[in-house]
Amino acid sequence: MIDRERLQALVEGIVPQAVELRRLLHRHPEPANEEHRTTALIASSLDENGITYHDRKPRTGLWLDIGPEPRIAYRADLDALPIDEPEENTPRSQNPGWMHACGHDAHAAIAFGIAVALRNLDPPSGVRILFQPAEEAFPGGAGQFVDEGLVDGLKGIMAFHIDPSLQTGKVGSRVGPITASADKFTLVLEGPGGHTARPHQTVDLIADAARLVHELPGVLRRTVDARSILTVAFGSIQGGTTSNVIPTRVELQGTARTLDRALWDVLPGLMDKAVGSLMAWSGARYSLDYVQAIPPVVNDHAVVHAATTAISDLLGDAVVVPTEPSMGGEDFANYLSVAPGALLRLGSSGRGHDLHSPGFSLDEGTIGVGIRAGVAAVIGLIDGL
Ligand SMILES: [Zn+2]
Ligand SMILES: [Zn+2]
Repeated sequence: MIDRERLQALVEGIVPQAVELRRLLHRHPEPANEEHRTTALIASSLDENGITYHDRKPRTGLWLDIGPEPRIAYRADLDALPIDEPEENTPRSQNPGWMHACGHDAHAAIAFGIAVALRNLDPPSGVRILFQPAEEAFPGGAGQFVDEGLVDGLKGIMAFHIDPSLQTGKVGSRVGPITASADKFTLVLEGPGGHTARPHQTVDLIADAARLVHELPGVLRRTVDARSILTVAFGSIQGGTTSNVIPTRVELQGTARTLDRALWDVLPGLMDKAVGSLMAWSGARYSLDYVQAIPPVVNDHAVVHAATTAISDLLGDAVVVPTEPSMGGEDFANYLSVAPGALLRLGSSGRGHDLHSPGFSLDEGTIGVGIRAGVAAVIGLIDGL
């Protein structure tokens, strides 16, 4: 159990530093796996507080342990997105074409605040804080940290993600899937080409592509349990140059997403079969390149329960609210094949624009909430797992 007043006073002293760090990170957004300045800014804030850490030079990101033999991990991510930040935003990115539009600047600042607070609180057992690079890229930084053994033997791992649809001060919680898997695929169709006057004498790839776009999601759906959520959508079709020539090549790209971890495991095979059945009648050559990118994040019941009970005890019963799963992907999922965990949402109403949009703006009030809730949750996990 945390001494509420002691934590309150402690976090009040930390919030200005965390906000300052977030503003610095926001002004200097960097792409996945290139977060060198970001890593250095976090490192110098830790140095100022006398907290030692492990860097990964020449790679980006860092991690640290508060106390010996960590049992619990808290994860933040560091990378930005290729979006031009509008002039009216303050602070504004000084790296043209790049913007912290997914709140990872705030995630890093909150993790920094949690590290400083925990160091002063002397938790009953060790906690590992992960500042992970490359969440937005594939393959992502979570896989790098897993490969480095940073989650091995841990009892639980948690993270917050900023949620602009949730009011600042609230924590969104859910047991079970909270983000979807995100696989991508490329379909290439090839044929001899020809005159659009005589499609029967060649292979009409445009018609084949149209059939795939129209029928593939439905055919696939009929091969899976109706209770599993699955969405297949195309983001790109490239083929043809003019109205009266049937092309020799058409390329389609799309994504397949599900909240069902067991379905995700077998999805590449199902996709292969469905494409095969739709192309069986066509004379086109085709190839399917299916990349099983990240599984769904499936929140563990015990981790969610321990974390949210501790957050409610510290911040009040009204703080934790139920939240719905998103069909977006999160590479936090990779940690969950090693340790049970939970990704919770942190309200940041701001101007209300969605993540990944140039209009996204953080409500900085969320930083103090995140530090308090994060410290409570981590200590709750030490006690409860
Ligand atoms: Zn994102
Ligand atoms: Zn994100």
